Amino acid sequence: MFSAFLIKYGEIGIKGKNRYLFEEALVHQIKYALSRIDGEFEVKVNQGRVYVEALSDFDFDDAVTELKTVFGIVGICPVVYVEDEGIERLAEVVCDYMKKTYPDSDKSFNAVSGRSAEEPAGFEASKKSGRITTFKVAARRARKSYPLDSMEINAYLGEKILDVMPNMRVDVHKPDITLTVEVREKIYIYSEIIKGPGGMPIGTNGKGTLLLSGGIDSPVAGYMVSKRGVWIDAVYFHAPPYTSERAKQKVVDLARKISRYTGTIHLKVVNFTDIQMYIYEKCPHDELTIIMRRYMMRIAEHFAREGGSMGLITGESIGQVASQTMQSLLTTNAVCTLPVYRPLIAFDKMDIIKVAESIDTYETSILPYEDCCTIFVAKHPVTKPVLERIEKSELKLSEDIDRLLKEAIDTTETIVVRYV
Ligand code: ATP
Ligand code: MG
Repeated sequence: MFSAFLIKYGEIGIKGKNRYLFEEALVHQIKYALSRIDGEFEVKVNQGRVYVEALSDFDFDDAVTELKTVFGIVGICPVVYVEDEGIERLAEVVCDYMKKTYPDSDKSFNAVSGRSAEEPAGFEASKKSGRITTFKVAARRARKSYPLDSMEINAYLGEKILDVMPNMRVDVHKPDITLTVEVREKIYIYSEIIKGPGGMPIGTNGKGTLLLSGGIDSPVAGYMVSKRGVWIDAVYFHAPPYTSERAKQKVVDLARKISRYTGTIHLKVVNFTDIQMYIYEKCPHDELTIIMRRYMMRIAEHFAREGGSMGLITGESIGQVASQTMQSLLTTNAVCTLPVYRPLIAFDKMDIIKVAESIDTYETSILPYEDCCTIFVAKHPVTKPVLERIEKSELKLSEDIDRLLKEAIDTTETIVVRYV
């Protein structure tokens, strides 16, 4: 029945030129989301509104599922639109719309009249409590030349609806159903709002570089930051032959899963083995993890600057493991010159898992493939590293580390990941 969607988005802070950029980014992401389903769509901005019009048959549920992945969308309104062929014809379409959208509203469930102040509005709520369903028509005339004004349209259509749905009532103050009729070039009819993900469209807040491992946390961290409109690049540290091809594939799969929301991700796969071996050879083993993490940050920062990112993103959370105590974070952070965004910093694992499940990364994250950090990990890593001591240990690497860093950077593979 529906042939279009009206997209509602948050309007805070999007005035003037920003509004144009915001809408352009939103349209871009909507097209990306809908390219994944069968059907042809046109996405357009018209007088401060974004419309998606179907140019062919399409699956309604699929379209809604994909639109729900577009950050910036607050509400998705399924729309029926008609050519303007006079008010009588419009009334027919509107009545048909109401009967189809709210079937059974004339059945015995709505025997009780009135809704108490605490009771929620909505058709389903009215059905549940067995009271009468109320509605109002809210006409809006963007085209002022239309022969009737909005009050007249409301009255005319309201009456026609009551004729075909005698068990509904009009309530202009707190209706269960608000039927919006927008008179533009065509006439748009809608009454339902499906909740969108919120956030800001990708690309409206620059770019960040995600340190993406195969774990549970980092995909969630990337998803969360990108929800604020941040475009994501990713870096993965790979240690063949200690870590396998399938461990790498798992990271590619995770990048792919989050790219459903974030858009295209350029994933850098850094060969970290030689650096890890060198640290293992030269430095105290209980400091391995911390020193390794400092080199990860340095390399990630190199790629971040090269790719125009304005910050690093990690899945770190205070106290989760030895390398994430406050002292460890301080020591790791000391090598960074870009801001490091850690959206999970105060999250409990259970809450991180909930998000991972909701974005469908959890099942992939828990596949039991080896991680480059766990292979060289000491039995008793330092939990309270002292920065000066770590810096001193790193001096033992001075002979070869620059060459190894350059080699790691030069041999890095870039994989372009897209959700299609
Ligand atoms: P995750 O579940 O994200 O792997 P974790 O609990 O295993 O996190 P750590 O191994 O201490 O924690 O890693 C902390 C953060 O460092 C990760 O969230 C990720 O951002 C980054 N990181 C760790 N290992 C790698 C890696 N091999 N490649 C890229 N980034 C990594
Ligand atoms: Mg990890």
